[in-house]
Amino acid sequence: MATLGTPQNTIEVLQKYQFAFQKKYGQNFLIDTHVLEKIIQAAEITKEDFVLEIGPGIGTMTQYLAENARHVVAVEIDANLISILQETLASYENVSIINQDILKMDLNSLVQEYNDGKPVKVVANLPYYITTPIIMGLLEEHVPIDNITVMVQKEVADRMQVGPGTKDYGALSLAVQYYAKPYIVANVPPNCFIPRPKVGSSVIRLTRYQIPPVQVQDPKLMFKLIRASFNQRRKTLQNGLNNSPEIPFSKEMIQDAIESLGLLPAVRGEALSLEQFAGLANYFSENFDKAASSATTTTSL
Ligand code: SAM
Repeated sequence: MATLGTPQNTIEVLQKYQFAFQKKYGQNFLIDTHVLEKIIQAAEITKEDFVLEIGPGIGTMTQYLAENARHVVAVEIDANLISILQETLASYENVSIINQDILKMDLNSLVQEYNDGKPVKVVANLPYYITTPIIMGLLEEHVPIDNITVMVQKEVADRMQVGPGTKDYGALSLAVQYYAKPYIVANVPPNCFIPRPKVGSSVIRLTRYQIPPVQVQDPKLMFKLIRASFNQRRKTLQNGLNNSPEIPFSKEMIQDAIESLGLLPAVRGEALSLEQFAGLANYFSENFDKAASSATTTTSL
């Protein structure tokens, strides 16, 4: 089987199997060898590596991965693609194909089974309709990961990479940057895919931190604060936290915490860095108990 990363070879396979694209699965297949090579290089795949590929399609990138890695597990939801993959990947003994929905899999068990629980590399041209749940799932479930190198919608890559003071900055930027160091490898135009997506794409590499860049006593609390701040983006940080049912602190506590960071009372959440959100969370963790007990004392007086 010839390598697939060209328009001609891809069309040949699609016609042979009379493959019908399923829009609901976000199917846009890569047909540019330069982009494929760039992804493999950016992920720094070596013969030592175990790679998880999400959504192999007809196996275009899987072939490149199989050439460069020790073992590849490719998880594809579309049952119609499985017999195609079995043929396009027939000459590789180091590829396992799994017909599953990636969001329903226990990836920690998969890494345990195939790589003795040691860190893996994740490579994918992701289905855009579920980019965020896939990436956040990999990061938040603490799947042992070295790096994630993925094609995503350009706008989403920008959101993952930016800092405070830009319109793209939000909860996704902070969540990604708490767990990983993002780096945009390349911007990829629609004509590198078949069919062409309506939007531009980017390859982004997320290198997992061994130790997070900020120290937070209660990461769950920090993410609650982040969500509350960005749910009401146009409100001040103080009102955003006050109005959120997820945040249990009084108006005074919130005022104190904001003041303790040296911020102005009218500051908006979107102006805060990851470090400042961590500081806010730590302030609440350290002072909330004390405040709660002093409130009880005041009541009993
Ligand atoms: N890797 C191929 C390529 O680059 O040509 C295909 C990429 S295409 C953008 C996304 C692939 O993910 C499709 O093959 C699609 O069927 C698959 N997919 C969509 N949702 C999925 C899910 N929940 N779990 C696993 N695969 C999924």
